Amino acid sequence: MDLYEYQAKELFAKHGVPTQSGVVVTDASAAVAAAEQIGGMVVVKAQVKTGGRGKAGGVKLAKSAAEAGEKADAILGLDIKGHIVHKVLITGAADIEQEYYVSYLLDRANRTFLAMASVEGGMDIEEVAATKPEALAKVLIDPLVGVNAEVAASISDTAGFPADIREQVIEVLQRLWDVFVKEDATLVEVNPLVKTPEGQVMALDGKVTIDENAEFRHADHAALVDLAAENGLELKAKEKGLNYVKLEGEVGIIGNGAGLVMSTLDVVAYAGEKHKGVRPANFLDIGGGASAQVMADGLEIVLGDPDVKSVFVNVFGGITACDAVANGIVQAIALLEGQGEPVTKPIVCRLDGNNAAAGRDILSKANLSVIHVVETMDDAADRVAALAAGA
Ligand code: GDP
Ligand code: MN
Repeated sequence: MDLYEYQAKELFAKHGVPTQSGVVVTDASAAVAAAEQIGGMVVVKAQVKTGGRGKAGGVKLAKSAAEAGEKADAILGLDIKGHIVHKVLITGAADIEQEYYVSYLLDRANRTFLAMASVEGGMDIEEVAATKPEALAKVLIDPLVGVNAEVAASISDTAGFPADIREQVIEVLQRLWDVFVKEDATLVEVNPLVKTPEGQVMALDGKVTIDENAEFRHADHAALVDLAAENGLELKAKEKGLNYVKLEGEVGIIGNGAGLVMSTLDVVAYAGEKHKGVRPANFLDIGGGASAQVMADGLEIVLGDPDVKSVFVNVFGGITACDAVANGIVQAIALLEGQGEPVTKPIVCRLDGNNAAAGRDILSKANLSVIHVVETMDDAADRVAALAAGA
């Protein structure tokens, strides 16, 4: 789960990372009131879960409360890379002498954590990384050691932070590591980390991604979820305990077992190349031992996606035999019909493994025009892609 800047800064404050607090508002008059309360020069910042807000006109300085209202009015409603701005953060404006970059992330390729830091921070760190890679220090972190004072010093010195702020940077790096570990984050990024003319180091921006697999350890993280910003289908799937991820294509995918579902995505994407480039619309693993109700829940979510043109149900019968799954599919279609959601999109079913023949027989005998039974995974992928392409 990606957090908003204001939420990231709340976590920074909790763990002792110097940053300015602020007020989140959703309309111009509240922005004026917040700016009055803060006093002096303020920054009005779009709260959207994407970077590059500054360049898109989503970060503006305001000299007075009235001007803060005008800036908030201009920023609210902006579309920044497909994210509409519904909230802005009003904070006191810091004077900036220098902008730096620091981050911690999970480096899957190296199977460890990685610290990155640069004294050339600010808006264009991607460009620095691409054109001047030597200006972006990368230090692998031993997870058993973490970032103690010594490791923090090596990050600071590798990046070349100036001597006058070295001690502050070493402290900030350790506090940010606390955020990373104690909040179970997979990314903590500060761009810019700044030095003010008074020589104070502070985080002016924050990007934090929380590892949802660690949700059980953090009861307080539930409050960070912004229901309005979540994908509706993903939310509904979560409520029903389904393992669902929305993707961008047209072919709905349901399978039992994460490995099978992932290979199904691959074969469908491959088959789609011959059928107008259609692609998988989602990942949905209904797991082993799925009941008719689980199949109905799965079908309801996948069919409820307006992008979906056809659905591929790919099941390998194991503990749950294929005849039980077939009965589940037939019952699921009846259940949906009963809920006033009759199934009209074609569903291609491939059943293999335990009692496969009996399962196919049940589907054929059910005599449902939306169901297409195909024996092999490749043929089923080809059929479902063709159906999604309108063949
Ligand atoms: P991003 O573009 O989405 O990364 O948004 P940032 O929060 O990083 O803001 C973009 C830029 O706005 C920063 O690099 C700063 O140059 C500027 N900025 C942000 N906050 C302040 C502030 O308090 N004072 C000043 N002077 N500039 C700021
Ligand atoms: Mn930034």
